[in-house]
Amino acid sequence: MSENKMQTMIEQAERDLLHTYNRYQIVLDRGEGMYLFDVNGKKYLDFMSGIAVFALGYGNEAYNNALKAQIDKILHTSNYFYNEPAINAAARMKKAAGMDRIFFTNSGAEAVEGALKSAMKHAFLKDGRSSHQVIAMENSFHGRTYGALSVTGNPHYREAFGQMPCDVKFARLNDLESVKALVNDETCAVIVEPVQGEGGLMPASEDFLRGLRELCTEKGILLIFDEIQCGMGRTGSMFAWHRFGIRPDIMTCAKALGCGVPVGAFLMTEEIGQSSLVAGDHGTTYGGNPFACAAINAVLDQYEALDLVRHVYETAPYLTQTLDSIKTEFDCVTERRGIGFMQGLVFDRSVGPIITDAMDHGLILINAGANIIRFVPALITEKEHIDEMAEILRGAIAGNC
Ligand SMILES: *Cc1c(COP(=O)(O)O)cnc(C)c1O
Repeated sequence: MSENKMQTMIEQAERDLLHTYNRYQIVLDRGEGMYLFDVNGKKYLDFMSGIAVFALGYGNEAYNNALKAQIDKILHTSNYFYNEPAINAAARMKKAAGMDRIFFTNSGAEAVEGALKSAMKHAFLKDGRSSHQVIAMENSFHGRTYGALSVTGNPHYREAFGQMPCDVKFARLNDLESVKALVNDETCAVIVEPVQGEGGLMPASEDFLRGLRELCTEKGILLIFDEIQCGMGRTGSMFAWHRFGIRPDIMTCAKALGCGVPVGAFLMTEEIGQSSLVAGDHGTTYGGNPFACAAINAVLDQYEALDLVRHVYETAPYLTQTLDSIKTEFDCVTERRGIGFMQGLVFDRSVGPIITDAMDHGLILINAGANIIRFVPALITEKEHIDEMAEILRGAIAGNC
């Protein structure tokens, strides 16, 4: 396909699609392992993985075959019936997460909605009041639907959209006193990403999470962990909270959960499961359908077969080391942040030109805010991919700093 043809496709897209994204000027066509190809056949090393989604890389044969087999059986049943893939996925996710009850959704934002509704209902059952407050963190990101937006700590995302449905107060990540100052007898939940993603690859400290757990337990407030981006092995443990053993009352999961099939989930302890949502309180047409759950099962099969979480634990230090050395080589890089395969380089300037330059040279990256480059590659990333990435990145930084 000629360059012109790709340009024509992009122009058509810009006429038809609602302009909610400033897209890179590339029409992607297919993927293979760690690599993507555009419609012209140009090859890219992918360190974005569809925003922390394609944990298995592209074209995992066993995963693809499991999906094809499920398509030939049944795609959808509705939640008025049981289906075997969902029964298996529920049991396996409970075990993988160390939680007791699960509800499947179609996206991350919907998982956050469900987590918030569960916390509200739990508080309602305790005191009969129909409205409660939630404490969320500044710079957090929990999704674009109204409930999830309410707890998203970026005022620009909320300002045009009227009254938010939840009454939310914002505290500072890793500042327990700022949370304590906001607690009152209407507080029903604290929601936090164990590692902030969109907000800048900022890990919550062990002390902060432990302090939150103690505070919430003492005050009868529910602790919600949003593991949508940092979960599913990305930080070197199945879920980021597993590193510290600080268990939430409710948690969310999505992104890598389906590895490309749109699916999310919220999970909770048995105690909250017994005292929150009941029949009639919550539902979804597609959530937990056999196709989506076959994807989850195939993903979990591959996590086991490839020992992916251990692979991240063992390989990610090489990414840390590589990014640390890039930081020392260039004055315009001010900080490295994050853990595992969820890291960021902070620049003293806008990273747009660096990312565009890297793309021209066959490397796909994503930003997190204006001046941070985010590294969220597939969990199958090997050292040689990190070296290949670093070489292109060094060139792109050198050309733009
Ligand atoms: C991506 C993300 C969401 C929203 O998920 P969607 O599937 O885009 O709705 C929520 N929370 C976190 C931490 C995320 O990274």
